[in-house]
Amino acid sequence: METVNMETDVVVIGYGAAGANAAIAAHDKGAKVILLEKMATGGGNSRVCGGNLIIPRDMRFADYLDKLSFGTAEREIIDAFVEGATQLESLVKEMGGELVPSQALSPWYTRRRLGGSSVSFPKVPGTENIARLLSFKGQEDIMSGNRLWRFFSSNVERRGINVMLRTPAKELVKNQRGEVVGVIAESDGRTISIKARKGVVLTSGGFENNNAMKWDNLPIKAPVMFMGNPGNTGDGIRMAQKIGAGLWHMGRSSTIMGFKAPEYESAFYMTFLAPGFIYVDKYGRRFVDEATQFGHEFLDYVSFFDMKNLEYPYIPIYGIFDEEARLSGPLYVHNAGYNRDKYKWSLDNKAEIERGWIIEAKTLPELAKRLSMDTASLENTLGKYNESCKMGTDAEFGRPKEHLKSLEPPYYAISLWPTLLNTQGGPRRDKGARVLDPDGMPIPRLYAAGELGSIWGFLYQTSCNIVECIVFGRIAGINAATNPPIES
Ligand SMILES: Cc1cc2nc3c(=O)[nH]c(=O)nc-3n(C[C@H](O)[C@H](O)[C@H](O)COP(=O)(O)OP(=O)(O)OC[C@H]3O[C@@H](n4cnc5c(N)ncnc54)[C@H](O)[C@@H]3O)c2cc1C
Repeated sequence: METVNMETDVVVIGYGAAGANAAIAAHDKGAKVILLEKMATGGGNSRVCGGNLIIPRDMRFADYLDKLSFGTAEREIIDAFVEGATQLESLVKEMGGELVPSQALSPWYTRRRLGGSSVSFPKVPGTENIARLLSFKGQEDIMSGNRLWRFFSSNVERRGINVMLRTPAKELVKNQRGEVVGVIAESDGRTISIKARKGVVLTSGGFENNNAMKWDNLPIKAPVMFMGNPGNTGDGIRMAQKIGAGLWHMGRSSTIMGFKAPEYESAFYMTFLAPGFIYVDKYGRRFVDEATQFGHEFLDYVSFFDMKNLEYPYIPIYGIFDEEARLSGPLYVHNAGYNRDKYKWSLDNKAEIERGWIIEAKTLPELAKRLSMDTASLENTLGKYNESCKMGTDAEFGRPKEHLKSLEPPYYAISLWPTLLNTQGGPRRDKGARVLDPDGMPIPRLYAAGELGSIWGFLYQTSCNIVECIVFGRIAGINAATNPPIES
């Protein structure tokens, strides 16, 4: 294979939000940068994400995140995150953009998900008014990562940074002193050998589309779908491991519920925009307060393994819903996810009924039959649930009164699978974004940022990922750029 030799100061691997920010920051520190991207377009998960950023008001937010981390990330890293995050609004302004309050999908949805708070876990004491949920100002629809991506990619373009698309990095190169001094990549049947005079930044995302890694590392042994960039196959983890990096947070992910259509590689992000819905397991039984469950922790709700029957009864589950919920808007959170540009979900969910993705039934026995469920079990579940709605109290699962709505025919159902927004694991890093070996020693000149080895190791506060990409992408870029050039 022909080899092309190149040389630069900093190589950044993976062109999503973390990579873009690392490249911009390194460039602005005077470094010459090459950005490698495996896919035909940049953006990764960042381009198709919800585009929401959580912006702390002050350092109180660090206390809150520290409580959610349950000791899975050092306090100094959390502090570095919050310090960077509090400066984001002015940074974005300096770069020519503006952050504005995020819009909700529907007022009911916001009340249900967040109870009016911008933090995911408002029961933690002292969380009132400690953060705001913002997104990039622009003309497009709500929940779009497009505005975010256009902002960062145009900043990369404006600086003339060399972005090499369809050029997957394959190996990191170390010298005899143990420093990372280059990258081997491939492009168009050629080997690209790049010498990095100052450093290498890994920002190649997670392993959402790598079945073997998911099976090994996620806490369940059942299919887990993904809904972002198919190029996120854990390459950076393999490359970092090969040169001696330690790993962390490999079992942690942000998982929502999705619908997987056989025709599409990536799954659809599902939600109900009105209260007329419940979840049932394969046997037609309810198992959770559906209205206030935590959005990104869906895996925890469905990971129960039935030892007696050796199965996961909640994978998949079924969302059963009524006419009002059907007419309240598309079940697909339609501006997020890789399928966003590939399929237009109908506003009334009718086209998806016609496709057979959503099941419609006039009676419960008909619904049970079509879902291969025991009719008596489903009737019992619906009977109890409707009774709870009448009484105004859900004694079984504690669904709040204001979110109880009885289900009447016609009925609709859709299968729901655990679906990754991202994986959070990867090479362990410190507050300077330096990649650490298993003994906690930095691997010289190697940095990482973004969801590849993210700092989120236990409970995940919504909308921290993108902020982390920006904060630690910048730290990584600046630190790489300020290294002295390698001695040859
Ligand atoms: C539908 C959806 C909604 C979300 N909503 C939000 C939200 O509102 N707020 C929030 O904070 N987070 C959200 N997230 C999570 C967030 O989008 C991601 O965690 C974040 O975008 C990760 O950014 P990144 O730069 O680390 O990785 P990515 O943006 O995924 O970029 C990684 C890039 O590396 C490339 N790559 C992979 N391997 C190689 C290789 N060998 N060589 C070169 N390039 C390679 C990939 O192709 C990809 O382009 C959402 C995720 C999804 C999927």
